[in-house]
Amino acid sequence: MSRKLFAALALLFSLALAQLVGGPVAVAAEPGTEQVRTLYYDSSGAAEFVSAVDAGARVWNESVSNVRLVKGQPATITIRADDGWPRAYVQRLGQGTIYMGRQAVREGHDVIRIAAHELGHILGLPDRRTGLCQDLMSGASAGTSCKNPNPNAAEIAEVESNFGRSLRSAESFAGVFAEGAPALARR
Ligand SMILES: [Zn+2]
Repeated sequence: MSRKLFAALALLFSLALAQLVGGPVAVAAEPGTEQVRTLYYDSSGAAEFVSAVDAGARVWNESVSNVRLVKGQPATITIRADDGWPRAYVQRLGQGTIYMGRQAVREGHDVIRIAAHELGHILGLPDRRTGLCQDLMSGASAGTSCKNPNPNAAEIAEVESNFGRSLRSAESFAGVFAEGAPALARR
């Protein structure tokens, strides 16, 4: 190996090392800079819902800036398809398993709204069955005519806060959020 090539490789290696070791630390140390949290999701088990899940993730990415949903690994979010009602098992903020239930789709509920709603649970939002279509977390209570996949201003603010400076206060968020027919909804 020529000395020139060796020097070039050594420089490249040290730059890469600096990126690995120094990158995130430098970002976090910068005053006033919020670190964007990236959550990876695995939709390989989402069958016919893969593109709806991507669309739901895109809705959130266009709505909030403190957290990003990216398809890939290492995934803390697993998305599967089954024949039941959609539901989310949230282990903690940003981590859990979503079932894109076919029963809701069969009954006419919008599939992107379902995906965005279930991702909303992973992002720390509970169900609020208001029956209003402008509320994403009203879920099935808004009826099958509701095709709105977008969170409202309050839901956006809550997610921003969950992943903002007050991250710690939302870290204990967990639960099972099962959707169902509006008539069966408890709240
Ligand atoms: Zn829900």
